[in-house]
Amino acid sequence: MPKGRITFEYEKCKGCLLCVAFCPVKILYMDKVAMNKSGYNIIKVTDMDKCIACAQCATMCPDSVITVEDITNA
Ligand code: SF4
Ligand code: SF4
Repeated sequence: MPKGRITFEYEKCKGCLLCVAFCPVKILYMDKVAMNKSGYNIIKVTDMDKCIACAQCATMCPDSVITVEDITNA
């Protein structure tokens, strides 16, 4: 069962990759094609089922792009 679900406010992302670096289960990556309106490549999730809702990605993001929901009891 997945524990977490994350959503992005893509237009705020500046592509710094801190979320990618700090995700302990390594499910985040930068899409090489998709960009936001500011021209930054956006971050995507390989396998949301592996998210442990630790919120490291949201904590590290300097632009408050990521929202983490703990769906353990959803
Ligand atoms: S909440 Fe944790 S496990 Fe889920 S994507 Fe963010 S850093 Fe990775
Ligand atoms: S940490 Fe935030 S601004 Fe940086 S790449 Fe991830 S979502 Fe974008």
